[in-house]
Amino acid sequence: MTFTSFSLADIEMPSHIEALREEVRAFLRSEREAGTYVREPAGWDRYDAAFSRKVAARGWIGMTWPRQYGGHERTTLERYVVTEELLAAGAPVRAHWLADRQFGPLLLAAGSESQKRTYLPRIAAGECFVCVGMSEPDSGSDLASIRTSAVAVEGGWRVSGRKVWTSYAHMAHIMNLFARTTPFDSNNRHAGVTQFIVELNSPGISIRPIINLAGDHDFNEVLFDEVFVPGENVIGDVGNGWKQVSGELTHERAGSERWLNAYGVLVHLLQSAGAQPEPRAAERIGRLVSHLWTLHRMSFSLAGLLNRGITPHVEAALVKDLGNQFDQDIPETARAVLQEEDRACLPADDRFNAMLDRALLYAPSYPIRGGTREILRGIIARGLGLR
Ligand SMILES: Cc1cc2nc3c(=O)[nH]c(=O)nc-3n(C[C@H](O)[C@H](O)[C@H](O)COP(=O)(O)OP(=O)(O)OC[C@H]3O[C@@H](n4cnc5c(N)ncnc54)[C@H](O)[C@@H]3O)c2cc1C
Repeated sequence: MTFTSFSLADIEMPSHIEALREEVRAFLRSEREAGTYVREPAGWDRYDAAFSRKVAARGWIGMTWPRQYGGHERTTLERYVVTEELLAAGAPVRAHWLADRQFGPLLLAAGSESQKRTYLPRIAAGECFVCVGMSEPDSGSDLASIRTSAVAVEGGWRVSGRKVWTSYAHMAHIMNLFARTTPFDSNNRHAGVTQFIVELNSPGISIRPIINLAGDHDFNEVLFDEVFVPGENVIGDVGNGWKQVSGELTHERAGSERWLNAYGVLVHLLQSAGAQPEPRAAERIGRLVSHLWTLHRMSFSLAGLLNRGITPHVEAALVKDLGNQFDQDIPETARAVLQEEDRACLPADDRFNAMLDRALLYAPSYPIRGGTREILRGIIARGLGLR
């Protein structure tokens, strides 16, 4: 690949998109007023299947997919605005997020006609939720070293192995599984891996919780004991999983969920600091707000590239890396600007302290999930021809 600069053009926001933004905001306001959810930092880690179905009923899942598969044939820019508003409002979108963000696009790019007809309409209706089974106990960054194996048998495959950190496997209907279909070859590390659709109620699957730092159950260990997967559940070509997964990871890294995790804390900080914060606080908050706007423009630009059918691997890695840092800077800045004694004086019903605690506990995970900081910087350096 020859790549010497980032192609993050400044994209004009089409005027009709502002009306869509207002529509999403009005929906979210009415949901909050009805008590459906309270604003949370890291809202995309909150799972609420009923809320996802309401989002689906609005036509906001599978927005860019063809109508014949339950989609709505809207642009990636429109989808960008909807997802940005959902995240900024801290809405509980996790149930449908992975299916909408990466599994649908994967099936559209590589899936069979039957897979598209079976799964995409259910996903777009908020009736089918998906988890991603890539990482294993000894394979995270080095995904090519996975050991979970799929052995060809009559009519399909037998899968054995162990996946770990599998977010919301305990709530999902299917897993997008990454498994080895031919033995590891150190001379061709990326060959022989295949993607499968696995129904999570198949015999031989056990799902065990792993409790995260905040005390929540969001990820899991998933064990496969000779699980039968029908042949028609192979996604794309056998052995082509590596190439397919690279495109999928770009979708995973490109969105605003990589820098809107602590947005609620930032909004609260701005409100608490008032119109005339002391100069040091003003400088720190101003820096955050300028980074927020820059990330918004960069992310929107990525949506523009995706809209043109370009898969921006390197730019997505850049936005994710900068976004992860931003998500970690917000709670740290909030803690420095609003000192403990200030926070202790907040009214009892003020949720800022709870939001800040949660943002601090989730912050360490941001530069790990979806590709670690070091791996992303390696991609960026390689893209710039520096390594
Ligand atoms: C909240 C959360 C949710 C997750 N959800 C999922 C999920 O749903 N599905 C899924 O499959 N996985 C999931 N993961 C797993 C995640 O993708 C992995 O944790 C991640 O890829 C890192 O892998 P690892 O944990 O094995 O760490 P390792 O890869 O062992 O890395 C350990 C450290 O070594 C560094 N390192 C590794 N290789 C290199 C290198 N070549 N050069 C420089 N430094 C290097 C890393 O940057 C890191 O700092 C989730 C993780 C988290 C935290």
